[in-house]
Amino acid sequence: RAYNFNAGPAALPLEVLEKAQKQFVEFENSGMSLMEMSHRGAIYEKVHYDTEKLLRELLSIPEGYKVLFVQGGASTQFAMVPLNLLRPETTAAYVATGSWATKAIQEAKLFGDTTIAASSEADAYNRIPSISELNIPENAAYVHLTSNETIEGTQWAEYPDTGSIPLVGDLSSDILCQPVDVSKFGVIYAGAQKNLGPSGVTLVIIREDLIAKPSLTVPTMLRYDTHAKVDSLYNTPPTFGIYMVGEVLKWLKEQGGAAGMEKRNREKAALLYDLIDGSGGFYRGFADKGSRSLMNATFRLATEELEKQFVKESEAQGFVGLKGHRSVGGLRASIYNAVPLDSIRALTDFMRDFQSRNG
Ligand code: PLP
Repeated sequence: RAYNFNAGPAALPLEVLEKAQKQFVEFENSGMSLMEMSHRGAIYEKVHYDTEKLLRELLSIPEGYKVLFVQGGASTQFAMVPLNLLRPETTAAYVATGSWATKAIQEAKLFGDTTIAASSEADAYNRIPSISELNIPENAAYVHLTSNETIEGTQWAEYPDTGSIPLVGDLSSDILCQPVDVSKFGVIYAGAQKNLGPSGVTLVIIREDLIAKPSLTVPTMLRYDTHAKVDSLYNTPPTFGIYMVGEVLKWLKEQGGAAGMEKRNREKAALLYDLIDGSGGFYRGFADKGSRSLMNATFRLATEELEKQFVKESEAQGFVGLKGHRSVGGLRASIYNAVPLDSIRALTDFMRDFQSRNG
């Protein structure tokens, strides 16, 4: 297998892929693949509800929250959040931390008033603003943050307490990388394709009191209440994707759950960041140390030429996905939950060797 450092869709645990392969053609003596089954039948329904149950367990989701599986990716949540939560005379407050937060802000602007509660744009988004920098208007319908900026490689170390104003989090690229206090949030959403499973499923965790008739005219499929009322079975859900999420969660539980993941992820990230910091400036981390991401390590070399050479040589040696996002350049290693420690060891060995030949 390749050393997969893709930013998304990203590496899945090999054990999960192998189990899915075994169950692919015939699911549990049913005479058919899970993909061929009715989503209203008992076999699929069990998969559906078991996946939800396991998510509730692994994220310690408190009572009073609905778990939804929807489609359209996290990008559709950029619209669904303001469409459902904005009210007349309110503003949507956003923390501008990077590329994905900016996309969310642009989308919210289509539907109502927006406010930037804090921004690190002046620092090229190389850091997460500190909580004391947040300026939240009293009439904010919600405060939105992006827990991990996948492209810049920054991550919130601690979430703000927004009091009675609901906190909305895009956790697409770090969900379940560590335990999270769900009760701090009104809404959490995440595209599945980094830490949860294949693309095509989007997870939404929403506090029940926020599920209400929108004040705007909103298409049925874009209303949270549509999905919440019928446990995400309003229309045909992405059945195979939800099954895969369930299998990834079973794997995650065997690894010690969110706490087990955090331990592993910290070890993985430390290997990489220690190498960067100890390289005498050959590798230069992009993110401020206090805002570094456990999931996406971004770094640069002295010249773009050298970066191109790094990508080329790494690919020849079986490393995939190390080129930085086209919008910021440089290099990026995405080291999500399913990326094994051995892959990081192989990468740091390669990086040391590359430096010795080019430093
Ligand atoms: N938010 C974050 C933090 C992301 O990393 C991504 C995508 O990769 C998105 C949103 C967009 O997700 P999707 O492609 O599921 O719409």
